Amino acid sequence: MRTAPTVLHLDMDAFFASVEQASKPSLRGKAVVVGGLGPRGVVATASYEARVFGVRSALPMAQARRLAPNAAYLVPRFAFYRSISERVMELLRALSPLVEPLSLDEAFVDLEAGGAAWDERSARQAGAKLRADIRAVTGLTGSVGLAASKMLAKIASERAKPDGLVLIEPGTEQALLAPLSVRTLPGVGPATGDHLRRVGLHTVGDLAEAGEDELVRLLGKAHGHALYAMSLARDDRSVVAEREAKSVSVEDTYDVDIHDRVRVGVEVGRLADRCVRRLRTAGLSGRTIVLKVRRYDFSTLTRSETLRGPTDDPAVVREAAARLLDSVDTTGGVRLLGVGVSGLADYTQEDLFAQAAGERRKELPGEEAEAAASGEERPQAGAERRWPAGHDVRHSEYGHGWVQGSGLGRVTVRFETPWSAPGRVRTFRTDDRALHPADPLPLTERGPGDGEDSGDGEGDPSGQNGRGGDGRDAGGTRGGGPRDGRGPGAGAGAAARVRPG
Ligand SMILES: [Mg+2]
Repeated sequence: MRTAPTVLHLDMDAFFASVEQASKPSLRGKAVVVGGLGPRGVVATASYEARVFGVRSALPMAQARRLAPNAAYLVPRFAFYRSISERVMELLRALSPLVEPLSLDEAFVDLEAGGAAWDERSARQAGAKLRADIRAVTGLTGSVGLAASKMLAKIASERAKPDGLVLIEPGTEQALLAPLSVRTLPGVGPATGDHLRRVGLHTVGDLAEAGEDELVRLLGKAHGHALYAMSLARDDRSVVAEREAKSVSVEDTYDVDIHDRVRVGVEVGRLADRCVRRLRTAGLSGRTIVLKVRRYDFSTLTRSETLRGPTDDPAVVREAAARLLDSVDTTGGVRLLGVGVSGLADYTQEDLFAQAAGERRKELPGEEAEAAASGEERPQAGAERRWPAGHDVRHSEYGHGWVQGSGLGRVTVRFETPWSAPGRVRTFRTDDRALHPADPLPLTERGPGDGEDSGDGEGDPSGQNGRGGDGRDAGGTRGGGPRDGRGPGAGAGAAARVRPG
C-alpha cells in the first residue's frame, strides 16, 4: 500500500437532485426526489432537504411519497446528467491517466500516477482545486476523499459529504475504521452484514479482533480473507482506468440444437442467473450485458447492451439478455448460448439507473418503453403527448420552463431558467400547440475553460452554484421563496398528485 494519501475518490453530492435544483431555481433549498414515478418506481436520488424526511436512494417511490408528500417528484433526465458527468470526468482525466469511474457521479483517481500529488499537502491542494473546478464548470458540488487506498478514499468522501473534503492521514486508518459498522467495508452488503451481526460482529474492529480464521470459517475463503485484510485497512487494489476488458461470462453448448424459441429464452434466463452468481461470488458488478449465440451453421453472433450503472441484479441481467435475444434470429436452431457481464466495478452498487429504467419499461408499452430504455426522455410529441414531471419545455409566448405536473388533460409549467429568479406557474391543456418539448439549458452561463478565476468556492454557503463573479447573483435570488407565495414544494407536490392513473 502506498504511504501518501494520493488516491482520490470523488462523489458528486446528491447528483441528480442537485442538477435539478441547479436547473430549477424554485426548487433550490427544497425537497426534491428524482426517480421512477410509477407505482413500482424507486428513488434514484433525493436532495439533502428530502433526506431529512428519511427519503433515500433505492426506496420505493410510494414510500417516499408518504414520507415527504410535499417534495417535488421528478422523472430523471439521464442524457442531461450524462452530459454533466462527462464534463466532471474530463476534469478528473486532466489530473491523471488513471481514472476509474464507478457511476455517472463517482470515480477514483490515482493522483500519484498523474503527477498531480505525491504527499499529503499536494493531495489536499489537488482535491481542493478539483472541487473548485467542478463548481466553476458545472455549478455543482462534489465531495472528495483522499487516502492511501481506494477503500479509505471512498470512506473519506462519504465523511466529507456534502460539499467537503476529508483526507485520511496514512497511519491513522485502522484506528479510524475500528468503530465503524462492518457495512462500511466494500463487499459487505445487507446479507453479509446481517450474517456478521448475528454472530456478534458489528464493527470493523470486531472483524479485526475475530481474526482471519474465524472470518474464513464464517464467510468462506475468498470473502473472509478479503474482509480480514480490509478490517486492518489493507487494500492494495489499484485504480484501473480500463475496466471494459474484464468480464464474467458463462456459456453452454447443447448436444442437440435447440429449435424451440421458448426453450432458448429459458436457457438464456438460466445462463443469466448463473452469470450473476459468478459475478456476486467475485464481489463484482458490471454495466454491459453480452449475449452470445452460435447457430446451427456455426455462425456466432454477439449482442451487447450497456446499462446506465453497474448491476449484479439477476432480474436486470435476465431482462437485458432477453431483450438482446429478441434481436437474434434463431430459426434453424441454436447450438451454443452464452451470457456475460463486462464493464466491471469492484463495488457491488445498487443499480439505480437500471432499476429506474426497468421500472419505466414495465409501465410503458411499445415504443415508449424503447425510448425509456434507451434513456430517451423527451416528452412525446405524438397524438397523446406525455409531459414527464421535471422535463424542459418551451412555450412560444412564455419561453423556457419545466413540467411541474400533468394529468386530467392539463399540464402545469413553471417558467424559469437556471439563471433566472424562481418563476411563476401556468397551466395549459396537454395538447396546447404553443407548448413544445425543449432541450435542457446549461447550468452555468459561462462555458468550461473560462472559470479559472472564480475562486475556490469553499465560501459559498448556498452549496449550490459557483457561477460567482458575473453579478447576476447580486440580488440573492437563490434564497428567495416561490413568487406565487405558496409554501415550500407545495406547487410541485400538488401538481404531482394529479398525474394520470
Ligand atoms: Mg453521489
